[in-house]
Amino acid sequence: MKWEENVRKVVPYTPGEQPQKAGVIKLNTNENPYAPAPGVAKAAAALNVEKLRLYPAFPEKTELAEALAARYQIGTDQIFIGVGSDDVLSIAFMTFFQSDKPVFFPDITYSFYDVWADVYGIPYEKKALDADFQICPADYCKPNGGVIFPNPNAPTGVLMPLEKVEEIVAANRDVVVIVDEAYIDFGGTSALPLIDKYDNLLVVQTFSKSRSMAGMRIGFCMGHPALIRYLNDVKYSVNSYTLNTAALALGVEAVRDEAYFRECCQKIIQTREKAEEELTKRGFSFPKSYANFIFASHKTIPAREIFERLKENDIYVRWWNKERIDNYLRITIGTDEQMEALYRALNEICG
Ligand SMILES: *Cc1c(COP(=O)(O)O)cnc(C)c1O
Repeated sequence: MKWEENVRKVVPYTPGEQPQKAGVIKLNTNENPYAPAPGVAKAAAALNVEKLRLYPAFPEKTELAEALAARYQIGTDQIFIGVGSDDVLSIAFMTFFQSDKPVFFPDITYSFYDVWADVYGIPYEKKALDADFQICPADYCKPNGGVIFPNPNAPTGVLMPLEKVEEIVAANRDVVVIVDEAYIDFGGTSALPLIDKYDNLLVVQTFSKSRSMAGMRIGFCMGHPALIRYLNDVKYSVNSYTLNTAALALGVEAVRDEAYFRECCQKIIQTREKAEEELTKRGFSFPKSYANFIFASHKTIPAREIFERLKENDIYVRWWNKERIDNYLRITIGTDEQMEALYRALNEICG
């Protein structure tokens, strides 16, 4: 077909499977195994459907923005809210990575980064993690068009200490440095306090993991008001009404219930610590994880085989047929019961 010459051609990001059949133990997309805060259910029940005829409010003008500002002790002008952090990150790529110089990110990382770079025509260079899957800050302290990395990194779970994050931000004052903190609430230290010191730092977080709301699609980022203004300019040039009315009403309840949030994160951390023991006993090794998943490799059995056998048992984990990581499984931390089912299945497979 002749018109294909004028088509934007991309290799899309491949999300983890969302099986529709019942009974699957889903440890493949880092969703939270616990329900959203109780106030979210109440807000859903109280949702005024009549109001759905109206366009939603602008996210930055809502109680959700105010609740986030109060929770993180910053101004509403330092927050940008989007439809999941994928939306926030996509707009941030579009907004901040306009240089001819390459954007730097790790070779093993969230596999959406190179997809956005490709779709927006942004040049990039991947910097190799070291043998322990650590980011080497010196690699990022060379001329570039911007920097992005998750902390903790995905899919490894490895956390970079805050001093090293700051080293990268401080060495790159002429470009924007984006720290993707999708998993920061599971034991890491956020770079958020640095946004007052560095106007080039953007900290991105999400409701999808620690706040149990992947299905609602809410993400946000925090940074200098000028960064936020530029993001809004681009957002309002692409799509004005982003978050829907329900997401705005339900999201605010997830932020307000700090006790429930802490309790869920703590339970996941405890289950993760138990999982470290159980996986080690069964012949797995892994870098220390500060996320709600473990990136594990078995001493004798290929990851692909374990992945397939688990799937036959209706236990889904994530496996990538990619250089350097094709002998690893990324296992999301589920409830203790789900993890017990995993250990039983692994006894059969690895036993
Ligand atoms: C899950 C994840 C996101 C995006 O999540 P949303 O559901 O779009 O908020 C972003 N970055 C990383 C590293 C993730 O793992």
